[in-house]
Amino acid sequence: QHLDRIAAVDGEIHAYLHVDAEGALAAAADVDRRRDAGESLHHLAGVPIAVKDVLTTTGLPTTCGSRMLEGWIPPYDATVVSRLKAAGLPILGKTNMDEFAMGSSTEHSAYGPTRNPWDTDRIPGGSGGGSAAAVAAFEAPLAVGTDTGGSIRQPGAVTGTVGVKPTYGGVSRYGLVAMASSLDQAGPVTRTVLDAALLHEVMAGHDPRDSTSLDVPVPPVVEAARRADVSGLRVGVIRELGGEGFQPGVRQRFEESIELLAKAGAEIVEVSCPSFAHGLAAYYLVMPSEVSSNLAKFDAMRYGLRVSPDGVEVPSAEQVMAASRDAGFGDEVKRRIILGTYALSSGYYDAYYGSAQKVRTLIARDFEAAFEQVDVLASPTSPAVAWRLGEKLDDPLAMYAQDIATIPANLAGVPGISLPIGLSEGLPVGLQFLAPAMADDRLYNAGAAVE
Ligand code: GLN
Repeated sequence: QHLDRIAAVDGEIHAYLHVDAEGALAAAADVDRRRDAGESLHHLAGVPIAVKDVLTTTGLPTTCGSRMLEGWIPPYDATVVSRLKAAGLPILGKTNMDEFAMGSSTEHSAYGPTRNPWDTDRIPGGSGGGSAAAVAAFEAPLAVGTDTGGSIRQPGAVTGTVGVKPTYGGVSRYGLVAMASSLDQAGPVTRTVLDAALLHEVMAGHDPRDSTSLDVPVPPVVEAARRADVSGLRVGVIRELGGEGFQPGVRQRFEESIELLAKAGAEIVEVSCPSFAHGLAAYYLVMPSEVSSNLAKFDAMRYGLRVSPDGVEVPSAEQVMAASRDAGFGDEVKRRIILGTYALSSGYYDAYYGSAQKVRTLIARDFEAAFEQVDVLASPTSPAVAWRLGEKLDDPLAMYAQDIATIPANLAGVPGISLPIGLSEGLPVGLQFLAPAMADDRLYNAGAAVE
């Protein structure tokens, strides 16, 4: 049914870069066989899923939305993908994204934009607009996204889906093509909070192949989503996120959710996180610095003799690299490589990268202080509802500003959820909860209570 739905609507939505009908049907048939043989199966066995094209999949193209990786078929699965397969979730295909996960609209994909199913003249958020649109358009019941500065949560907010960025280290990054390694984290994209919890449980857990993976038990997320009880829960409304720059309709829906929480027995407190005001500036230095380093490997070069087949002059290594990187990377990727290279260069390192890292520490301290007062923090996920395609494409700063509420969690490594809380101007609005590291279960409890 999902393959039929994809065939019917994906021409317009363009959520997928690759659909693997054959593989998905074979995996589904395998689940049937195992069930018939009396095997005890995972409760998500047979439920199909879409995977963001930044996670490697054996035998299936993985492009990261870039020309640089066009035609690449990885010889191995990301740990997240192996876990989906082991639990029996058939993979429907790979979803569209901003190139190397850089963007907030999916317009930076080298393969054309994804459209928001609520209004196809509008963006589905980014960078994981493909995963969010696939779930919102019923082209998949579940999807996997990745979130470096909001790429799961913001697309969730603007497409009316649920998106979770787990605690940094909670989900393995093995096989996740790195954008900014200290910020990247894969997580669930779904239609309900309980679905997200069930998927979270499959994806999470220690992996010796990722040196930053935490060797601690997965938080009890499913139990928390089922509990959905906020009586006595202390919810901190972040003063710095939700005022100026946030659309009135977004603020209104947010305030209604907070009232709803209060009615359900939560204790609402206003909390100040003063360093969050510098979150965007710190992120847009730390992230491009890591990007410039991580993307250096795409050099079109490897070991050994180089000979030109027809006797023409053999280009130098630098010429091959420059020409290939010029052709392989899009403008936004180039912009960030240049920014990052600059921020890391000698003479500027302390002023830019060094200062940004200090701000990062201050943001982590703001979180620590806040979580001494409250159990979870709340804010709107995104300042705006889905904007029109093209509207912010020529204005990178306006695009970056959309990440203001999602970035602090990545800089501090704490988990966050976005869930739909109604419409403004006929378009979905998202509510974000944030929790202390490895207290992901609190997000599911609070989220399920509001939902
Ligand atoms: N919008 C942010 C950026 O462009 C977030 C990206 C992400 O989370 N992958 O960097």
